[in-house]
Amino acid sequence: MSKTLSAIIAGGGLGGLATAAALAQRGCDVTVYERQSALRASGSGIYIWENGLRVLDALGAYDDAVRGAFEGRAFEQRDKHGGVIDSAPVGAGKRLITVKRSQLLDALRDAALRAGVKVVTSSEVIGATPRGELRFANGDVARADLAVGVDGIWSRVREALGLETFHQQTAEGALRTVIERRPGDIPAGDAGKYIENWNAERRFLITPINETQIYLALTCPERDRAARDTHLDKALWSEAFPRWAHLIERIGADVSWGVYSIIQCSAWSAGRTAILGDAAHAQPPNLGQGGGMAMQNGLALACALEGIECAEAIPAALEAWEARERPLVDHCQKWSTLYGEVACLPDEVRTSTIRAAMAHPWVIEQINRAAHHVPTGTGERARSVSLL
Ligand SMILES: Cc1cc2nc3c(=O)[nH]c(=O)nc-3n(C[C@H](O)[C@H](O)[C@H](O)COP(=O)(O)OP(=O)(O)OC[C@H]3O[C@@H](n4cnc5c(N)ncnc54)[C@H](O)[C@@H]3O)c2cc1C
Repeated sequence: MSKTLSAIIAGGGLGGLATAAALAQRGCDVTVYERQSALRASGSGIYIWENGLRVLDALGAYDDAVRGAFEGRAFEQRDKHGGVIDSAPVGAGKRLITVKRSQLLDALRDAALRAGVKVVTSSEVIGATPRGELRFANGDVARADLAVGVDGIWSRVREALGLETFHQQTAEGALRTVIERRPGDIPAGDAGKYIENWNAERRFLITPINETQIYLALTCPERDRAARDTHLDKALWSEAFPRWAHLIERIGADVSWGVYSIIQCSAWSAGRTAILGDAAHAQPPNLGQGGGMAMQNGLALACALEGIECAEAIPAALEAWEARERPLVDHCQKWSTLYGEVACLPDEVRTSTIRAAMAHPWVIEQINRAAHHVPTGTGERARSVSLL
């Protein structure tokens, strides 16, 4: 990429910082505009699968992102009696780590800053044009060869370009928090597992993220007002998941609630302005791939622009980028949405549905396709990187 290409990015989240780092590492002059007063992660913990880990390695953010993180070996679903519905190993040749979101964001920020990216905070983007322009709430306009909207679910860049064709919010949402991890919290027989417990439409997901912290996600339908209250009704949740009452008891005041968005667009770019991450392809978190897809597509976008020396060539490169990356994103979004449907099934039906599906190699291959994918720009290099 020519040193003279410039890029402006709306949003300093996982996707925005990964895109910024990847572009700057290829010689682009990059500025990130973030609405918040500081680069700040929202949410608690995050799953990063093999594909996302390879991207982190390619960006030089891997070591910082996974330092001290938890590496799970198996994923287990359990019914309301504590019986195992299904237990699946993470799988050969594939890694999964879980880490605090702030650690991941900091690692991407540092990689971006090392590459020379400039970050402007307290800067709210309210519009964009296909000519590589971003418009700001204070009346300013920024122009570059390339503009990228990585400004999340309610993307103003997507809105301004008129790209949205579908935006649905799910009936289910999640309470998320992190608690201190104590000896004996997880029985010895469950070490190395991610445990997803079901009771009717309520779900309790236990995710260690390092030696000292556990990320908890408590999901339920939005209409389940008692369960979704951020002033957590501990008695209600402990009654639903009595084996884990000792964890529920320790949940503090720092609990967030949100439903999920499913977003599809007619295209991921217009002229010299692109969108990616949740702005372009938000998906429910059931496969733990939304952030992975955002980082992966950011790196792929930078690779697609490699060798381009004039702005006029950018629109075609963006179209080629979308054509290459979109099938996997659409696939992942479809399966993540489909998995969410088991939440509304009666317990017995859910148990037999999950067991039947997870016993079928075709279903497992569909669900795992993203994690097995070698993302653009990573090659085989990351295969040799061992975890922790
Ligand atoms: C409950 C839940 C659990 C999840 N678990 C996982 C998981 O385990 N693994 C995984 O890979 N993914 C997971 N995801 C998905 C993941 O969080 C998202 O896909 C990912 O954060 C998308 O990154 P992004 O950069 O596109 O958007 P965001 O992370 O939303 O970042 C957008 C950034 O843009 C900024 N911004 C917004 N509007 C403006 C504006 N107008 N001007 C300037 N800046 C703006 C925001 O402040 C923010 O910093 C989960 C999502 C949810 C809801």
